[in-house]
Amino acid sequence: NSMIEIKNVNKMYQNLTALENVNLNINQGEFIALVGMSGGGKSTLLRLIAGLEKPTSGEITVGKDNSRSVMRMMFQEDRLLPWMNVLDNLSFGSKDKNTKAHAKELLDLVELGDYANHFPNQLSGGQKQRIALARALMTNPKVLLLDEPLGALDALTRRKMQDLILDVCQKQHLTTILVTHDVDEAARMADRIVVMKESTNYYEEDCPKNRNAG
Ligand code: ADP
Ligand code: ADP
Repeated sequence: NSMIEIKNVNKMYQNLTALENVNLNINQGEFIALVGMSGGGKSTLLRLIAGLEKPTSGEITVGKDNSRSVMRMMFQEDRLLPWMNVLDNLSFGSKDKNTKAHAKELLDLVELGDYANHFPNQLSGGQKQRIALARALMTNPKVLLLDEPLGALDALTRRKMQDLILDVCQKQHLTTILVTHDVDEAARMADRIVVMKESTNYYEEDCPKNRNAG
């Protein structure tokens, strides 16, 4: 019951090695945290999994038919459209007549059932991220990719959001990958923590001592 298979994946940007021989299997329903230093390749791996970029070599398969339509991403910024209210933000892009009812269900799920008619600038940072989460769920994804979604929130709001995300992922049977700098957050949320080390090539290139030695 593996959902995402990452096999011998390398990613180069010109001569910079962002990912070196990454191998990882993620099971259906698993919650994975990707942690590690800045520049370790966490966001790159997430973009490759999402299909936004291709690996330089190696292979990433998602589900049985390798379609990326089962995935949705959530970012540190909420990316809500400021001129639309919450309900329209969630319904945007769909012509299905059941969309608004579905949006309302998801607003209840993220405990913002009374905020359908609010505009993004009337919401706190934590509330905006809950709306962003609801929006990510509109297409009933199987996989949720979270790129530091709580990075801009204060400690208390962050803690509450961690619980909400865990609850939602469980209820929706999601396979989740969370990129975070926060090791406590990873330990609190994840079934499994994957540490992304800075690539050796990159470190040597960027080390001022080495540069001057030559
Ligand atoms: P992390 O998310 O762990 O901070 P990233 O995946 O953002 O790491 O970056 C990994 C490495 O790849 C870094 O050295 C970064 O500068 C480089 N990198 C990431 N994206 C690009 C890009 N689009 N073009 C060139 N280099 C990139
Ligand atoms: P869909 O429209 O079914 O969601 P996409 O347009 O996202 O599919 O992708 C088209 C095809 O490209 C996928 O079915 C998959 O085979 C391939 N693909 C996309 N991203 C990747 C990736 N990161 N690694 C390997 N194959 C990929």
